[in-house]
Amino acid sequence: MTTQTLEQGEVWPKLEPIRTGIAGRCPRCGKGHLFKGFLTLREGCEVCGLSYEFADPADGPAFFVICFACVPAVVFALVLQIKLEPPFWVHLVTTLPLILVTCLLPLRPLKGWLVCSQFFFKAGEGRLVAPAPQETTNPQGTVREASAG
Ligand SMILES: [Zn+2]
Repeated sequence: MTTQTLEQGEVWPKLEPIRTGIAGRCPRCGKGHLFKGFLTLREGCEVCGLSYEFADPADGPAFFVICFACVPAVVFALVLQIKLEPPFWVHLVTTLPLILVTCLLPLRPLKGWLVCSQFFFKAGEGRLVAPAPQETTNPQGTVREASAG
């Protein structure tokens, strides 16, 4: 098992994001909780103190749920209606629970997995890095630092 070393010299085992994420655990220690509600992230881990400020899965969980759960559930409903033409109450007891279950249940583990993957792969927003200041020589021969910007 590989480990990751932090600035303070603390060493944590490198945990697989799929395991910690689906379980809703801290991506660094694997013991603290990731969520404080159904989908709301905590401010940080109560065990190791890792701040979850880095976490920004945005619409990722919803996108995956829509593509791989909602669309098949709606296709099921359409096929059921077209092939069997059942009364409305049949959709209430089959299609509605199916859509609710397939849309709501995967959201939390998917969000946890994406957040833990962000930590694991150190993913973050792209940032522009300003070039390091270079020394230039002006016509008088004095050395000055180039102004950045
Ligand atoms: Zn932790």
